[in-house]
Amino acid sequence: MEEKAERAEKAKRSRSRKKRRRFLIRLVTIIILIFALIGFITVVSLIVYGISRLVKRPSETASTEIVSDDDSGIDLDLLDIKTDAGPPSSADSDTESTANAVTSVQTDENHLAINLHLLTKNPYSRPGTALSKINAVVIHYTASPGGTAEQNREYFEDLKVFKTRKASAHFIVGLKGEIVQCIPTKEIAYASNDRNKDTVAIECCHSDDSGKFNEATLDSVKKLTAWLLVKNGLSAEDGIIRHYDVSGKLCPKYFVEHEDEWEKFKKDVADYISENKTMLASADYLSFKEYETS
Ligand SMILES: [Zn+2]
Repeated sequence: MEEKAERAEKAKRSRSRKKRRRFLIRLVTIIILIFALIGFITVVSLIVYGISRLVKRPSETASTEIVSDDDSGIDLDLLDIKTDAGPPSSADSDTESTANAVTSVQTDENHLAINLHLLTKNPYSRPGTALSKINAVVIHYTASPGGTAEQNREYFEDLKVFKTRKASAHFIVGLKGEIVQCIPTKEIAYASNDRNKDTVAIECCHSDDSGKFNEATLDSVKKLTAWLLVKNGLSAEDGIIRHYDVSGKLCPKYFVEHEDEWEKFKKDVADYISENKTMLASADYLSFKEYETS
């Protein structure tokens, strides 16, 4: 009788041990599954984030041309136009603020305003290689409909992280005519293939697939180009070229597909120079604003 009770007691203990073990196994399995799920979600988010950054500016493949490094010990940190920079203007405080952190300076009839937001030196967009002689200004389009100047600059800056290609430009002119300078004109940009070594590159924003520049953008590009030509002793006749003229690339799209508009643009620049020679040469013509986060 006693033996029977003891056996029953043993069997009961064994059952409850098994029960506890099963419970523990289930608990551990659930914990592992939760961690696996968290890991999976993290990986998927990272991939989606990475892809969204990469496709932000899809098709303008400016150049993968690597220019031989002829850096001859010149202090590349010096902006050749730095001496013209005025103090931060108080007039900027009431300019329309956008989602972008940059406070834009405004270009008007008598001034060319430049937002200085230089890229960090890196092998993918700002190699720091000296640009000793400027023989032409090259016009590009961003191939990113609706993208702002700052967004395009950010794309160039991000190349140091993503390392997907080499691309940049000295200046980007936005949809409101704002000008962002990414690279000092004493350094090369990765924009115009084998002409990187002797040209300054201007990227122009556009609002749709036609690649047509709006009036505000065109006006700033005209003034910026005119100033660069005068500064470097070049003529509008042979000092302005399209990316297309260098490599045959469809860039800037609208000016390649509309040769008459391209000729008109060059004439507008020439006229602007002949009408404003003194103003273009004066230090007052330029105003700079260093990029600041709000
Ligand atoms: Zn181009």
